[in-house]
Amino acid sequence: MPDIKCSVTECEYNSDVKCGAPMIQVDHNNVPKSNNSDQTKCDTFRAKG
Ligand code: SF4
Repeated sequence: MPDIKCSVTECEYNSDVKCGAPMIQVDHNNVPKSNNSDQTKCDTFRAKG
């Protein structure tokens, strides 16, 4: 797994602004085909706590 920098520090997998999950799933963000990064999302996100 390459280093993944992630600013979503409220995710339980985030540590020091990096993703610590062994694997992540990235999906389209409510569109059938993405044209920019806003149209993608991390499905592995899980809120802390
Ligand atoms: S699982 Fe997704 S949202 Fe959570 S730290 Fe990793 S890349 Fe960021």
